[in-house]
Amino acid sequence: MRVGASVELSVGKLIVGDGRVLEDVEVGVLGGAIREVTKSGLEESYADALDLSDMYVMPGLFDAHVHVRYGVKPDPEERSNEYQAVRGAENARKALMSGVTSLADAGGIRNVAFAVRNAINDGVALGPRMFVSGEMITMTGGRSKKPGFRLEVNGADSARKVARGLLMYHGANFIKLGATGAISSPHTGPRHPQLTVEEMRACSEEAHKCGKKVHAHCYGEEGISNAIEAGADVIVHGQTLTDDHIATMKERGMILMPTLKTFCGHLEHLDEGGVHARIITTGIWEETEPNFRKAHGRGVTISMGTDAGMPDNLFGDNPRDLEYMVEWGMTTEQAVQAGTLNAAKSVGVEDRLGTVEEGKYADLIFLREDPLEEISAIRTSLERVMLNGALIDPKSTPFL
Ligand SMILES: [Zn+2]
Repeated sequence: MRVGASVELSVGKLIVGDGRVLEDVEVGVLGGAIREVTKSGLEESYADALDLSDMYVMPGLFDAHVHVRYGVKPDPEERSNEYQAVRGAENARKALMSGVTSLADAGGIRNVAFAVRNAINDGVALGPRMFVSGEMITMTGGRSKKPGFRLEVNGADSARKVARGLLMYHGANFIKLGATGAISSPHTGPRHPQLTVEEMRACSEEAHKCGKKVHAHCYGEEGISNAIEAGADVIVHGQTLTDDHIATMKERGMILMPTLKTFCGHLEHLDEGGVHARIITTGIWEETEPNFRKAHGRGVTISMGTDAGMPDNLFGDNPRDLEYMVEWGMTTEQAVQAGTLNAAKSVGVEDRLGTVEEGKYADLIFLREDPLEEISAIRTSLERVMLNGALIDPKSTPFL
């Protein structure tokens, strides 16, 4: 990844990412990192200066749940892993051009997303920082009727071995667990529990030993209970949260990743049937908004996560996730924090990302309009992206 120049930014309004807003501040950027943020004059001297006094500057978005390997529609024929890696790199680039400077890929196939991450890190491809779980860990047949298509485990020892392989061989940045069936796997019931507490606990222990987080895909109540008991850090989807779940999540500082963009997107494509219609036929849709409002209303930490890559869930449209959050009761400040600091927390990298503060990576977006007035300003008024201190003009690199 390219390291940006030495530059000082004069910022009209700085949205820090943790709820604070600072006016008329200067930000010094050097070596890809934020060197200083001050209202009283920069201490260092910088080679270049940028006047952003009429701009709104905030941390780049962090979309903490995507699948880069997928196309917009299900593939008419099976695509090779190599093909999916090329598509993954292009999907990641599209996300970057919409203001997403960090992506977490939460379940791919084989080593595709690792390859995309490594290529971006090496400067072979242009894309956001990527945090990759590798394949989702599931029970046998949990996500596919095709044998061996996923990392299938049976029993705690087998789960532990697979988690160790992901973490040690591939440098997985977090672990993704299949705690229940899924809408996108029609042979399963989304509410049916899948991995056992023992299997998930073994994976959590291995992830936590090396400081990594555990994300659990859950729809049904029993699966959520199992994931919490097993030590998961993030509940993904989570439509059936009970009062007890919410109390425990708050107590432990767990995160809910409601993936609103994918559910609201399905609703707009119901006439196409398939996975879109299954959000209705499984009863998942009717639980989505009340569940989100309840969890948010009671103070559960909520993170951005679009599930981009699922059918008709486009890369490049990622900021919409925050717009749905605001439609369903969040303030714009809370939505910004969900898309920055909280998402960084979900993969345990809030010491390096998620806010505009000294010592963090210089991953910023510059907006012409105020996202705290209208959250869609992130999508509609993006002027520049700064990644690792390097400036990118999203308007000069059009989408395919
Ligand atoms: Zn997903």
